[in-house]
Amino acid sequence: MRIEGKTSLSELRTDPITGHQVLIAEDRAGRPNDFASPESASGDQAECPFCAGHESLTPEPLLETAGASGQWQVRVVPNKFPAVSLGQQEFAQPTISTLGMLPQSPDGAHEVFIESPRHIQDITELSIAELTLVLQAYRERLRFWSTDERIHHATIFKNVGVAAGASLEHIHSQLLALPEIPPVMATELQHSQRYFEENKTCVFCQLLEEELTHRERLVVDADSFVAFCAYAGRQPYETWILPRKHSASFEHLSDADMEPLAEILRQVVERLQAQLSPLSYNLILHTAPFHKRHADAYHWHFELVPRSTTSAGFEWGTGMFINPLAPERAAARLVVSG
Ligand SMILES: [Zn+2]
Ligand SMILES: [Zn+2]
Ligand SMILES: [Zn+2]
Repeated sequence: MRIEGKTSLSELRTDPITGHQVLIAEDRAGRPNDFASPESASGDQAECPFCAGHESLTPEPLLETAGASGQWQVRVVPNKFPAVSLGQQEFAQPTISTLGMLPQSPDGAHEVFIESPRHIQDITELSIAELTLVLQAYRERLRFWSTDERIHHATIFKNVGVAAGASLEHIHSQLLALPEIPPVMATELQHSQRYFEENKTCVFCQLLEEELTHRERLVVDADSFVAFCAYAGRQPYETWILPRKHSASFEHLSDADMEPLAEILRQVVERLQAQLSPLSYNLILHTAPFHKRHADAYHWHFELVPRSTTSAGFEWGTGMFINPLAPERAAARLVVSG
């Protein structure tokens, strides 16, 4: 393959030995970065593309929610520097290979949820009503993609703080919609499907029942949702939030459950802030694929992973994580700070 002459390469590659997948996305190198140098850790608000008044700096919105004042409160726009996109035909000339090293076109959609017109950084600065609008926007975009035959799965995630990989500090989250089920999701589905076939029940429902019985990792026990520190958390304070009632798909969440979900999410982040300062974290929404039947076996959830340690040779070399804080001790501290 000739790389000269191509301005930027955009491909999905699968490693011939392990099967791991990598998106080569050279276009993304040009995206704005508030954290490019350690001194500029606080972004320049005057140039922030997500602030009210700077709407012309982002693509046309896919969804706009009106706030109390009549101004927009949540804006969803296509990512200006997408990792994947639909209908991208231009393609590198494949290398002749006996190992199947044939790049695929990185199909999909990459969207940004701008969660407030104000230049704020974390969800604890949003009111419950505002955070509810954000969650409703998640549901709406998932519903949108669930009807598109080309798309099989969407992940919503949020990076807060430089240690979590955020490039802009203005409060936002992202949606990645893909034609195939990504590897982490495929593993969760495979395990939960097998558990269901053997036990005729959802493994997440079983997990909830055990966490609610033993209570040593429980963080918040609310009417409709439960938060607990993950038994095998990869980082200190890794916390999962699950609906108490079995449900595979976030897009089926009822209107009545939106506000309680905003409440528990904010509560967990507040408690984490009391323990870790400054708090950097990734919030990940795992929900069932759109067109495959996992309704009985899978259970949607948020994984909230604070980033206080960085992956090093141990993690890269073994695929195992070292967590220096027992999840039971983490939960005890989060309960006390509540
Ligand atoms: Zn801003
Ligand atoms: Zn379940
Ligand atoms: Zn998960």
